[in-house]
Amino acid sequence: MGMFDTIHVKKPLICPACGAEVFSIQTKEFDSCMFHFKIGSVLSGSPVLIGIIKESLWCDACYKAGTKPADSPVYLIVWHSLLAGVEQDFAKAEVRLAAVDRLDLIAWLDEAQREAARWSRNYHKLFSDVSRWHEHLTRPPEPEATGAEAERHRAFRRLFSLPDEILAAPDPLAAILATNKLVSDDVED
Ligand SMILES: [Zn+2]
Repeated sequence: MGMFDTIHVKKPLICPACGAEVFSIQTKEFDSCMFHFKIGSVLSGSPVLIGIIKESLWCDACYKAGTKPADSPVYLIVWHSLLAGVEQDFAKAEVRLAAVDRLDLIAWLDEAQREAARWSRNYHKLFSDVSRWHEHLTRPPEPEATGAEAERHRAFRRLFSLPDEILAAPDPLAAILATNKLVSDDVED
């Protein structure tokens, strides 16, 4: 089996045989580089600039139940190389293709920018934590100075270093990843 791309839909497609909800379709119509597309994505390698591509629905539920999944069409609506919609009914796909307008574009742009900001926020924090861990490992040990001045200096350093629970963790790097995993889950819509 070769490579493919995956299209994800928020509104599920419905298997006509068993009624199961299907949230993604694999396709070889584009670059087949294991890309993930959703409505509003630029379809790199699309052979069609504006039009409708016929794909077929694969139902995992039917497959797992031992029934051969029904060969059921899914129509990918392509508008200036953007995925503008996914429909199971050809007439609806035609209507959708004719109805794409600038409000759709603004909504897709807005979503893409939010997503970019989310990635940048998450990875900025992760990068900063890993950098601080690296600094911590490579910092030469300080002579244990005493006195108020040295204590103030240490307190100042602590402001910029990783929290103690990470530094004291059995595997600080895993603790950093765990913290940043929480951040990425928090901001998922
Ligand atoms: Zn099914």
